[in-house]
Amino acid sequence: MKRILITGGAGFIGGHLCERLLNEGNDIICLDNFFTGSKDNIRHLIGNSHFELVRHDITKEYFAEVDQIYNLACPASPPHYQYNPIKTIKTSILGVINMLGLAKRCKATILQASTSEVYGDPKIHPQTEDYWGNVNPIGVRSCYDEGKRCAETLMMDYYRQNNVDIRIVRIFNTYGPNMDMNDGRVVSNFILQALNGEDITVYGDGLQTRSFCYVDDLIDAMIKMMNNPQGFIGPVNLGNSSERTILDFAKVIIEMTHSKSKIIYKNLPSDDPMQRQPDLVLAKRELNWQPSTDIKAGLEKTIKYFEEKMIEIRKNS
Ligand code: NAD
Ligand code: UDP
Repeated sequence: MKRILITGGAGFIGGHLCERLLNEGNDIICLDNFFTGSKDNIRHLIGNSHFELVRHDITKEYFAEVDQIYNLACPASPPHYQYNPIKTIKTSILGVINMLGLAKRCKATILQASTSEVYGDPKIHPQTEDYWGNVNPIGVRSCYDEGKRCAETLMMDYYRQNNVDIRIVRIFNTYGPNMDMNDGRVVSNFILQALNGEDITVYGDGLQTRSFCYVDDLIDAMIKMMNNPQGFIGPVNLGNSSERTILDFAKVIIEMTHSKSKIIYKNLPSDDPMQRQPDLVLAKRELNWQPSTDIKAGLEKTIKYFEEKMIEIRKNS
């Protein structure tokens, strides 16, 4: 049994990680300030004597004795991280400094949830880990992109200077049950719009691409990375390499929900990356991992989750 701290544990990915690591027999501290997370994501774990829920903000110091830290705390959807950009960058920088300090004192292994956004609007395709990226340092996305880039720098400096045992994973667009239905991301927007028979809002001409990974596949990879005995620290891309245009994705959602929704076009947000696909060669080689969930199977589960959530909301209103 390990003592594991999961920051952002009440969020979409964090909730899945708490559940998996608890089921595997570990002692979990789920730490969250509930900015974008919800108790609904971990409600079923509360009451288990090996699960502890802590309301705390990682921009402030936190003391505990732990063996591993998964640092996921940070809003991830563009509307959420742009809501209070100064807070977003503080979370990525002050928060990571606090978590690295904790890891150093406890001699814990720390895994940082980085992102494909470190590549910005990439000029090479698919993106390999040795690509330094193309990020606008002064744009509306930079609070997130540059925050995450600086977090990687801090991880590497604590590793080189203080020998902290680090892992860096660069997560590409991930979806699945427990996504916040109103987070403004493309998966949740399109499913919600389709189920409500509302217009599907494609930004720009819809020819920009993304590659979507089902959350269970991502969780497998994160745990493998944390426990990788060979001491491989990354950064490593985690995602699914099956790339599609956003317009095509809208059509898939309409078809799968049997919706009568029409596609409408809205302005493309600034600095929206034109293409994104992870190169997964390193993940396969070092972790012997590759995603196995087909997009239709993953979307079926996600759509079912949204349908059930909508019924629950209607019942309670
Ligand atoms: P999410 O918004 O659902 O979860 C983030 C969690 O962090 C929330 O529970 C939120 O309340 C908490 N949080 C935010 N700021 C905090 C702070 N200062 N102190 C404590 N808690 C705080 O997002 P997610 O999709 O679950 O993403 C989790 C992590 O994975 C994030 O770090 C994100 O950048 C990274 N990531 C996610 C994706 C994706 O597609 N979901 C892609 C790339 C990277
Ligand atoms: N997008 C869209 N309609 C929406 C929401 C998003 O066309 O209602 C587009 C967005 O412009 C981007 C892509 O879908 O090109 C993915 O957006 P998301 O916010 O999910 O994540 P990103 O990968 O941009 O961080």
